[in-house]
Amino acid sequence: MAVVITVDGPSGAGKGTLCHAIAEKLNFDFLDSGAIYRILALAALKKGIDLTDENKLAELGRHLNVQFIPENGEINVILDGENVRDQIRTAEAGQNASKIAVYPKVREALLQRQRDFSSEKGLVADGRDMGTIVFPNAQIKFFLEASPEERTKRRVKQLQEKGFNANFDEILAEIKERDFRDRNREVAPLVPAPDAKLLDSTNLSIDQVIEQALAYIKSKL
Ligand code: C5P
Repeated sequence: MAVVITVDGPSGAGKGTLCHAIAEKLNFDFLDSGAIYRILALAALKKGIDLTDENKLAELGRHLNVQFIPENGEINVILDGENVRDQIRTAEAGQNASKIAVYPKVREALLQRQRDFSSEKGLVADGRDMGTIVFPNAQIKFFLEASPEERTKRRVKQLQEKGFNANFDEILAEIKERDFRDRNREVAPLVPAPDAKLLDSTNLSIDQVIEQALAYIKSKL
């Protein structure tokens, strides 16, 4: 049976970095499920669909024309022929993704698309409901947390390194707003799967998180 490793948790906890490290170490495929919600929100805006129109969003989700094309260690995201890799990475795109992610029909429309990433090679899946809803039978599940303040500190540093201005209080407020929406929505809220291994990266370096996760995987596989 194809192996699936899930990594869920709030934004900025280090899931992406951890998943990339696991995928590289085990030579697994990688699913960035958040990107799919970000792409759908962007596609809707480009088509003039209101981000509160659940039915139209779900319809668009079923017919999204998107490809993921790796190039020089990055993944190009081709939506209707346009590379939207950078457009989906803005804070606004993240907020829009979390707004449409509250709708059950939208989540249902994207479910099979996410499951299709499972492969014989093995998959590491990054998201909010990977271990609870999308891959409930995954062999290994992680839930990666960090305090909102620590996640804000990391985001500020990341933005500054890219040459952007970053205001700590604004980013903290955004992170808390998105956390609240993700944790309190009625469908697929952000909660650890009962069988998930909890990791708290607040006081750990990313290398320490990776080390702990790989040791756990080794003990299980
Ligand atoms: O992980 P990322 O920040 O890219 O996700 C953007 C938003 O998409 C999240 O805040 C969340 O609302 C939504 N999402 C989700 N379920 C997932 C992945 C992301 O609801 N599996």
